[in-house]
Amino acid sequence: MDFKIGEFQCRVLSDGSRSIGSMTSGSPRRFIFGDVPDDEFNYCLRHHGGFDSSTVLPFNYLLLEGYGHVTLLDTGCGDMAENEKHPDEPAGLLLSSLAEVGFSVSDIDTVIISHCHWDHFGGAVKGGWAVFPNAEYVMSLKEAEHIRDDVKGWALNYLNIISDRVRFVVDTTEVRPGITVNLAPGHTPGIIVGEVSSGSETLLYTSDLIIHKAHVDHVAWIPEFETDRAAAIESRRNLIEESYKRGMRLFVPHIPGGLGRVIRDPEYKWVNEYV
Ligand SMILES: [Zn+2]
Repeated sequence: MDFKIGEFQCRVLSDGSRSIGSMTSGSPRRFIFGDVPDDEFNYCLRHHGGFDSSTVLPFNYLLLEGYGHVTLLDTGCGDMAENEKHPDEPAGLLLSSLAEVGFSVSDIDTVIISHCHWDHFGGAVKGGWAVFPNAEYVMSLKEAEHIRDDVKGWALNYLNIISDRVRFVVDTTEVRPGITVNLAPGHTPGIIVGEVSSGSETLLYTSDLIIHKAHVDHVAWIPEFETDRAAAIESRRNLIEESYKRGMRLFVPHIPGGLGRVIRDPEYKWVNEYV
């Protein structure tokens, strides 16, 4: 799927998809929405096509071409997909998708890592090397500290491998002309979202501030693995209100189709846009 935001050519790169049941051995509902009253959940999710362990989350990321730069928003799962354990649900396919749209890893000069989770950061490194050899990687300093202090494991190994090519941002930063990252903590301490502006158009790459459409009408339904519940609710509410007020389009990696916007009817709601 291709679409334009002003001068930017935007291409959606599929990294595969996974069912909720493959990502948690616990309650699928609690995993994505936390503790939610039965009645309210069942009523809401009926309008969203239901939700259980077989519900599939796509992993879609964005390639932006414009103003002389080629920027990737998140790297997908890479080897962290562990496809040998999930033969029916392959993921980590972003590099194939990149080749399909005519780009190689060396064409990319900017890689924005929204946060340290495996489905966003796992594709940054392969075989001990940075996957995108000519790229400056961008990550928040806060997220790097979170990796060093709390997460460790493979994410720390990956961070060490790419550390000499990372620009660590501490606040709102225009990373490339028309591409600005903003801190939106809660899902993880240093998660960043990407605002893409050109002419009169703006697109917000939400990363995982929204995972499911139901998060737009229920901002307090917080995934159980988020690091700071109060901050996550505030960041999500701000993002939804701001995107509505400014008429921004949104791109959400884990909503099928990905591209949409927030309407008011009378509560905030997600609507897909099809291109
Ligand atoms: Zn994710």
